[in-house]
Amino acid sequence: MKNALTIDLEEWFHICGLERRIPRSEWPLQEHRARRATLRLLDLLGETKGTFFVLGYVADRDPELVRIIARAGHEIGSHGWGHGEVTRMTPEEFRSDLRRSVDSIGSACGIRPLGYRAPGWTIRRENLWALDVLREEGFQYDSSFLPWYPGLRPEPHPVRGLWEFPLSTRSLFGIRVPVLNGTAVRLLPGATLSAEVRRLNSMDLPAILAIHPWEVDPGFPRIHSPLVSGWLHSCNVRLTAPRLRRLTLEAEYVPVRELLHPLLETPVGSPGGIVADKDDISGRVGDDSACAASRTR
Ligand SMILES: [Zn+2]
Repeated sequence: MKNALTIDLEEWFHICGLERRIPRSEWPLQEHRARRATLRLLDLLGETKGTFFVLGYVADRDPELVRIIARAGHEIGSHGWGHGEVTRMTPEEFRSDLRRSVDSIGSACGIRPLGYRAPGWTIRRENLWALDVLREEGFQYDSSFLPWYPGLRPEPHPVRGLWEFPLSTRSLFGIRVPVLNGTAVRLLPGATLSAEVRRLNSMDLPAILAIHPWEVDPGFPRIHSPLVSGWLHSCNVRLTAPRLRRLTLEAEYVPVRELLHPLLETPVGSPGGIVADKDDISGRVGDDSACAASRTR
């Protein structure tokens, strides 16, 4: 079964939570490591292809890197331009940031992205208007839902004329926790990660795996942070590469567009995409024809 490998192409200082310590005005002063980290990641992935959601800032600074990724056969999506949280933007600000990223990516590699991922998983129940903006700007899918937040469906589904590919989660004590983002890859044992992929696939659902290049770059500068989040961002970085290699050897991973294409034959535009909080994926697949169609064959 095909699963999606997704990479948010950004610098180490774009980690959510560092905005106050390293404001945008200070980005040019930082050590830029996206190229070396990404080249290492490309080498690690070998023949496995994925979707790189490219931050416009990185595309402007190193357009050759975006061309290298595209030439290697990976899909190029958008991660916005300035890594702003969508929950803090007006629709006009979001559209402006999105257009700027599309221009930067187009200038770098000539590709117009089909897919978008919000910085910090910040498209949620309260700002679903962002999906309308994405559709109006020609995007075909979004991958910004972290169903940890209430009211977001956890499996791929059509919403507001787009397809949504949420990060893979599982229900734990009534909360949906991420199981295949970079933090999970670094914290959970490899056998647990493998079991999560098998669990999803056994329900006919693709795993949606999401990492960052800095997570395979043990040398990225650590900013002292008293917060738990500081530790979460820096722990076990040396374990990312072997665990990622194991995952990609055990199951098939593809760019999101390869999951999308069979789905485009299914009518989209189902209103909503919001359901009451429910915890069990298996209790819902099959009771929604669009959802059932979203299961990858
Ligand atoms: Zn990001």
